[in-house]
Amino acid sequence: MRKYSFVSAEQALSQLNTSNISGLTDKQADERLARYGANTLNKQKQSGILRLFFSQFKDVMIILLIAAAAVSAVIAAISGEASDLTDTFIIIFIIFLNAVVGSVQQYRADKAIQQLKKLSACTVKTVRGGKVQKIDSERITVGDIILLEEGDMVPADCRIISASGACADESALTGESLPVEKNERVLTDENVPLGATSNALFSSTYLVKGNARAVVTGVGMNTEIGAIANLLGESQKTQSPLERSLNILGKVISGFVLAVTAVIFLVGLFARGGGLLSNFMTSVAVAVAAIPEGLPAVVTIIMAMGVQKMSRKNVVIRKLKSVETLGGCNVICTDKTGTLTCNKMKVAAVHAPESARQKLLQCMTACSGVKGKRGAYMGDSTEVALVNYADGEGFSGTFERLDEIPFSSERKMMTVRVKFGGEIINFSKGAPDVLLEKCGFIITDGGIKRLTESLRAEIREKYEGMSRQALRVLGFAYCGGEMREHGLTFIGLCGLSDKLKAGAKLAVAECRTAGIRTVMITGDHALTAFAIARELGIAERQEQVITGVQLDSMGARERAAAIEGGRVFARVTPAHKNLIVKALQKQGNVVAMTGDGINDAPSIKSADIGIAMGGTGTDVTKNVSDMVITDDNFSTIVAAVKEGRRISANIKKTIQFFLSTNIAEVLAILIATLFFTKYNFLTSTQLLWLNLITDSFPVLALGMEREDFGVMNRPPQRAEKALFSASSVRSICVFGLYITAVCVALYAVALGIWGNEAATTVTFLTISFCELFHSFNVRSETHSAFKSFFSNKTLLLTVAAGVIINVLLCVTPLRYAFGLEALTAAQWLAVALCSLSVVLFGEVYKLLIRAYYRVNRSICHSERSRNRRIPTGKVINQ
Ligand code: ATP
Repeated sequence: MRKYSFVSAEQALSQLNTSNISGLTDKQADERLARYGANTLNKQKQSGILRLFFSQFKDVMIILLIAAAAVSAVIAAISGEASDLTDTFIIIFIIFLNAVVGSVQQYRADKAIQQLKKLSACTVKTVRGGKVQKIDSERITVGDIILLEEGDMVPADCRIISASGACADESALTGESLPVEKNERVLTDENVPLGATSNALFSSTYLVKGNARAVVTGVGMNTEIGAIANLLGESQKTQSPLERSLNILGKVISGFVLAVTAVIFLVGLFARGGGLLSNFMTSVAVAVAAIPEGLPAVVTIIMAMGVQKMSRKNVVIRKLKSVETLGGCNVICTDKTGTLTCNKMKVAAVHAPESARQKLLQCMTACSGVKGKRGAYMGDSTEVALVNYADGEGFSGTFERLDEIPFSSERKMMTVRVKFGGEIINFSKGAPDVLLEKCGFIITDGGIKRLTESLRAEIREKYEGMSRQALRVLGFAYCGGEMREHGLTFIGLCGLSDKLKAGAKLAVAECRTAGIRTVMITGDHALTAFAIARELGIAERQEQVITGVQLDSMGARERAAAIEGGRVFARVTPAHKNLIVKALQKQGNVVAMTGDGINDAPSIKSADIGIAMGGTGTDVTKNVSDMVITDDNFSTIVAAVKEGRRISANIKKTIQFFLSTNIAEVLAILIATLFFTKYNFLTSTQLLWLNLITDSFPVLALGMEREDFGVMNRPPQRAEKALFSASSVRSICVFGLYITAVCVALYAVALGIWGNEAATTVTFLTISFCELFHSFNVRSETHSAFKSFFSNKTLLLTVAAGVIINVLLCVTPLRYAFGLEALTAAQWLAVALCSLSVVLFGEVYKLLIRAYYRVNRSICHSERSRNRRIPTGKVINQ
């Protein structure tokens, strides 16, 4: 909609039928929303449940099964075999139920992802009905008047109405990395390239400087970025490490199962007989039952459930994938002010000669951009503290601000030119070490003097003393004449205190026991940073503090070593942050990095887990982040890591359950096919039923398990690595083999005592109960299943439901349809004992594992005391 660039802002407003003062009315906005649609680039809608239901039948195995069932039904109908016809109906019915479960799971997974997008949606300051309101960016429409400030994302294509010092980063759209100046002036050249359309702002770009008032000209796909959206967005979809691992796992399992299926089919056909179709159906049923096709959806749901839980604890996860990374995070790089400290500053110390006090109060007030009333100022907390102090000291002058060189984290100082009582004067404030470099004079009680080396040393000693007391120190200076930042006259110093956030110290300690290194990154002075870091337990020695200047002066190798050992990085700029993240990642760390300003965006983007601050963060940082912390609190980050570990562990439990039970089913059928050729083992209907009950009931309940005991007492591990850890593979194999052994042994004994029909029924019930009860085993790899047995009520309910349904199946006439037999008391007892034995076996297995770890730990301990140092590489996986 660049046509509005060639008319004046007033004309654009009238052509768009909107008002600059009052914006659109709510009614107008609703009408336009209906006409132009939501302001989103994502055209993909959530698939309806019906479509998802039918998509469940795309699976080759399911198609084969339906085809085989249909053929067998036709044959049965022709030959008048009623029992075969019943089998077919039951198979179709189970496939139908399976598809219902699968589609509901997929629907829930898709819905959770949609909700995630809503949670992380941006809001935009918009004038509607004459009032400035924050509106969801998706609800912005053509004709809306929006107000943008530095760091704001541009939500839609707009024509600028007025702007002040506005510069936009349009690299997302044009690839041009340098910011472009923006203003409201009309353009005349109709062939102007996109990057030179200076009076328009484009969706998905952002303001790096200044502010702008603009009218929306295009939304959603009807924007410049919308036109190329197909090249972006969806096409960039990459697989997460866990997704990749699950894919590989799926392929390996499918290959294995298909090979076994082929053996079952051939052996069945040639050794047992029973007909081509019946053998084919049994083999395909094995494949359907054993291939965990529902696993990806289950994993998504588990993650999404965790994300919902996190959103209630001030954590908004923007990218689902980051949940898996969270569990493996071993370095958290955090800001100081506002994250570890309260960001509620108070002037705690002042150093200025009596004769300079008035100037100091003037400088404190003039160099401030706070808004609001006395006693309730809003704005930068440093400046609020200064103005409050000046007020408290009885200062009440007003200034007319003429010009400003703003504060930035890179420069660490600012200057204003003001008119005060008819006099024009320039005031500067900033980090004292930086400011002193700009000063040539100083106010003393004996008048203004040249700033000699000894006076500088005196001031340095003063501000270092304040810094050692954990105070943020600011220096103040002024000059007359031209606005400049050299040859200034030094006024004095002040130290600001900022309390530690409640729980921050505890959270740092929790990180330490969890094998996570906390790294503080701050623009503050090295001494202030160290004093606070020591109080929090982040650093013990001053050598663990590295400054930005030191980093700059080091060679690549020296710098890498310094970053590896550093606990605090002080007086750094946002550019250093990116350097630190990349170096830490190169050393194999999984790094979480916090940030709020625009300049933090690159480091947040580079980090494995980019964390934006919800309170102070700009749109840009939020947009590139993986998660947003709404209370800007370090403890919340640690809580999120803990939750990430819980989710990763639950995914692992679910996969362990899936795999061990599926291995048991496949192996039992394979053994029975090979060694009990003359007898019938499980029929295709029984197998499919087994799969339906065990694969759908407990799996999601396992995803609701609360965190393991001591979840924050062990080293971090990435979800995809934990999945294939030795302990995990061992547990899958051990339990898979145990269930196989119990069921095959029981079948063999039952065959001898009670005959084929009873043996099949007893084995069917035992496999299904063993699998259901095995869900208790996977709750913990080391702890007893009875520890906090009642903590996961859903699991108890689902296991109970599975047991009741199968018992009912056997004791009611339904059993005829499934080829089962009514059991005697002795047979029920055999089923109960064999099924429960899996839990007993689990207890013994865990006892042995615990004993093994205890021995291993004591060896580690004695080695440690011998070497007098902590072994860093050794990780005992529990
Ligand atoms: P933190 O990690 O604690 O949040 P920071 O990144 O916010 O640190 P900066 O804001 O870059 O640190 O501040 C660096 C230094 O600049 C401070 O130590 C202080 O001396 C000075 N400073 C901070 N705020 C202002 C301000 N509003 N005006 C002038 N100087 C300031």
